[in-house]
Amino acid sequence: MKILAVALQKEGKLASASFELLQAAKSVGGELTSLILAENAKPLADELAARGGGKVVAVSHPDLKFFNDEIHVKVIKELIAKYSPDVVLGIASFYGKALFSRLSASCGGPMVSDVSQLTVSDGAVVAVRSNYGGSVLSSVGKSGDGPFFITIRPKIFPESNDGAGEVVEETVADSAYEAKMTVKEVKSESAGTVSVTEADVIVSAGRGVKGPENLPMMQELANSLSGALGASRAIVDAGWIPYSHQVGQTGKTVNPKLYMAVGISGAIQHLVGMQTSGTIVAVNKDKDAPIFNIANYSIVGDAMEIVPALTKKFKAELKGE
Ligand SMILES: Cc1cc2nc3c(=O)[nH]c(=O)nc-3n(C[C@H](O)[C@H](O)[C@H](O)COP(=O)(O)OP(=O)(O)OC[C@H]3O[C@@H](n4cnc5c(N)ncnc54)[C@H](O)[C@@H]3O)c2cc1C
Repeated sequence: MKILAVALQKEGKLASASFELLQAAKSVGGELTSLILAENAKPLADELAARGGGKVVAVSHPDLKFFNDEIHVKVIKELIAKYSPDVVLGIASFYGKALFSRLSASCGGPMVSDVSQLTVSDGAVVAVRSNYGGSVLSSVGKSGDGPFFITIRPKIFPESNDGAGEVVEETVADSAYEAKMTVKEVKSESAGTVSVTEADVIVSAGRGVKGPENLPMMQELANSLSGALGASRAIVDAGWIPYSHQVGQTGKTVNPKLYMAVGISGAIQHLVGMQTSGTIVAVNKDKDAPIFNIANYSIVGDAMEIVPALTKKFKAELKGE
């Protein structure tokens, strides 16, 4: 079985979920080829090779500096035709999902997204994903022609750390870079802060934090744990915080080691995005709040008092006081 793992980079750095893809590929065995597209892809390909990427294909071009799904699809489609993989693995991030839905339509193979486990049955890959808010697990196999496109949910597989690989630099036809859309600049709205999909610790705020004026208090708690600031949809819809922080059914699916839900009631649409977190701590002034049903540690109290107290404690611990 031939597997192609499509790594992603942002601002010239590999997304850490790229290394999780390599581990996902290893879980089914087969012949692994990894792929990285960037303005200067060679150093990134070297990193992938050293982390178990197998044969690593590097494509460098000025038009690959930023993610442009139109161009990425054309470049990868050409490489799929050359390497003819049976399975193409990608990251279930916003970029990854945009890329893979276009790729599967363009290459004519089926796609399954947000996969948390891969198994093999009769020599073919079967992808396992959860449905209906995590109450059903479905196993999805492929039928018909074309490669099987699968996006892997971040933070499920561990990162692959070792393995030797070889790097192959490839070029594709100039026509692949002809696109109707040009990405001239990407401005990160949360520059300098940790993203919720990459974080090991997430501190999330809900309507119970009362107003946007209290979010710096939440950010300080997140910073004290080197974590990211998450949010419920209620406060995103209220315009307190950008959508990129939203956790849940219509936000991001996260799987950190520690998730702290502060002033969040625990609606099912929020839970489906975070319920697989390692340890869940909830702070809520209502002792019957549904979030406490899934919390490992429940703190009943006012967020305005609990959050500063926790921040003070964590900062003191860090200083060794
Ligand atoms: C199709 C659909 C998709 C959705 N997608 C998402 C999604 O992706 N993510 C998401 O989060 N939601 C989503 N929702 C919305 C979801 O149903 C809830 O409305 C939302 O999660 C509620 O946010 P909340 O917990 O912050 O607010 P609330 O439900 O209003 O809860 C606030 C909580 O704060 C507590 N509280 C109040 N004051 C304090 C205080 N001083 N100290 C401590 N606690 C306090 C209250 O007891 C309460 O439990 C979706 C809904 C639909 C219909």
